[in-house]
Amino acid sequence: MNLLDIYKELNTEEKCLTFLEHMRWPDGVKCLSCESQRISRITSRGKLNKKTGHRSPDRELYQCNECRFQFTTTTGTVYHDTHLPLSKWFLAIALITESKKGISANQLSRALGVQYRTAWYLAHRIRKAMFEANPPKLKGTVEIDETYIGGKQRGHRSKLKNKDVVIGVRERGGELRLVQTPDNKEDTVYQVIADNVAKDAQAIMTDESRIYNFRNTQFHKVRHERIRHKDKIYVCGDVHTNTVESAFSLFKRGLTGAFHKVSLKHLQRYLNEFSFRFNNRKAADLFGMTVRRMALAGNLPYAKLIEENAFTPFVRR
Ligand SMILES: [Zn+2]
Repeated sequence: MNLLDIYKELNTEEKCLTFLEHMRWPDGVKCLSCESQRISRITSRGKLNKKTGHRSPDRELYQCNECRFQFTTTTGTVYHDTHLPLSKWFLAIALITESKKGISANQLSRALGVQYRTAWYLAHRIRKAMFEANPPKLKGTVEIDETYIGGKQRGHRSKLKNKDVVIGVRERGGELRLVQTPDNKEDTVYQVIADNVAKDAQAIMTDESRIYNFRNTQFHKVRHERIRHKDKIYVCGDVHTNTVESAFSLFKRGLTGAFHKVSLKHLQRYLNEFSFRFNNRKAADLFGMTVRRMALAGNLPYAKLIEENAFTPFVRR
């Protein structure tokens, strides 16, 4: 589905609920308590407010025929307990999945006609669903490079103040991982590589930096090639780090274009969002896939979201 389809086909709450039901239970509705598929649909009459005489709208519920548990399409998902209609949620997901470089909370707030804070919270919850908890390790030929976000002195490793280090790991013809680290020391970088590269990878391509050293590690048998960027050499046979660098430059264009002031506290979330879109750029239905992932992911309370260090894997100094 593209943006126009979503405008046209998911414009009422009823249609959105039906869509979500199919995404959440592609093989038919299952009881959230006992997983039985013997489910009845019931309508629960809205509550009457005796003072005002106003009745809240009726609700469609599922009831399990085995254990009598009652639930709705949104029970236990991020979509639950928000006062935002599903059509706005879905539009937000469509905007975020369709924009290659990402979309700012400001743009989202204008597009959806909601407050900035609502848009910001929405975007972060969508990003959470884009997080891959245990992604497979990369194999084949893997390129590794580091880049620096923030500050102005590009590429000077001695002047790292006010900058955040991002390690990029990309399998040629495969997936990308972007990891924010507190520094660019050999051990820190090695940990990222060990977490993301299979020990039977065919080759590892890096630049000449001494931080890439695989002697006495699980990668000692892997072919390791270094390209001498200092000598202005960028490609030598199959030795280069161009595919990871092109991912970096696309990410940075998004940072300056859409986000202006990315709080570095949230940088890893933006990196996750970018990698998710990048790795799924050929997926037939990224929108539906994200709607489904969000239905499966738990809720993210606002207090947890704004907590200091909530998303970074290390403690900021
Ligand atoms: Zn049940």
